[in-house]
Amino acid sequence: MTPAAIGILGGTFDPIHFGHLRLAQEVAQTLALHQIRFVPACAPPHRAAPQTAAQQRVAMVRLAIAGNPLFVLDDREIHRAGPSYTVDTLAAIRAEVGAACALTLIMGADAFIAFHTWYRWREILNIAHIAVAQRPGATLCDIKDAALAQVFGERCVHDTQPFTHSPAGMIAVVPIPLLDISATAIRAAITAGRSVRYLTPDAVIGYINDQQLFKDTLIK
Ligand code: ATP
Repeated sequence: MTPAAIGILGGTFDPIHFGHLRLAQEVAQTLALHQIRFVPACAPPHRAAPQTAAQQRVAMVRLAIAGNPLFVLDDREIHRAGPSYTVDTLAAIRAEVGAACALTLIMGADAFIAFHTWYRWREILNIAHIAVAQRPGATLCDIKDAALAQVFGERCVHDTQPFTHSPAGMIAVVPIPLLDISATAIRAAITAGRSVRYLTPDAVIGYINDQQLFKDTLIK
């Protein structure tokens, strides 16, 4: 049976870490979502290509979310040719779950302040709600684009009811404890030979070691 309220967390997950997992858990709890889908991007259009193969990033997500009944892996983007446009992914999910299901796209503030650069970004709010969380190094005060600021002003609500009771169209800012963890810092730490324990689950670290990932990351 399709859950009534689904959250979607897209990312490169290169690698997945506790910043992602805690973000998903906090948003699920605050907005009373019944399921969170982790959607690894194959070829993210907004940034440099990931260092790790899509299948390896998927494997790390699978290991990281194992045992949490709220969390589900959705690997549709790695099976689709071309860039991973979020609007296409959301439209495909919407077609599967039906018009009534509440869908919420989850993102950190660093992603949201660049949201106006996403392909057909305005259409995304016709398909889903958006939940934004603060992240160290980025705040919503950094929204510079006038069109995005206007949409944010019009759609931002403090009531969490729409996120389970209506299918799409609202934006919520969800307070979460700030975790200054990034995949970039994890890759750099591994390259430098430093431990990444307590930044990402042990199962992910085991996989990184087995596959010898990020050993040659260039620290820029
Ligand atoms: P990289 O360092 O390689 O850019 P990342 O750590 O930002 O990676 P992504 O996979 O690009 O991870 O992030 C996916 C989503 O998760 C984005 O919306 C991002 O804002 C959010 N996110 C990642 N880390 C955190 C964090 N520590 N706190 C809040 N949100 C986060």
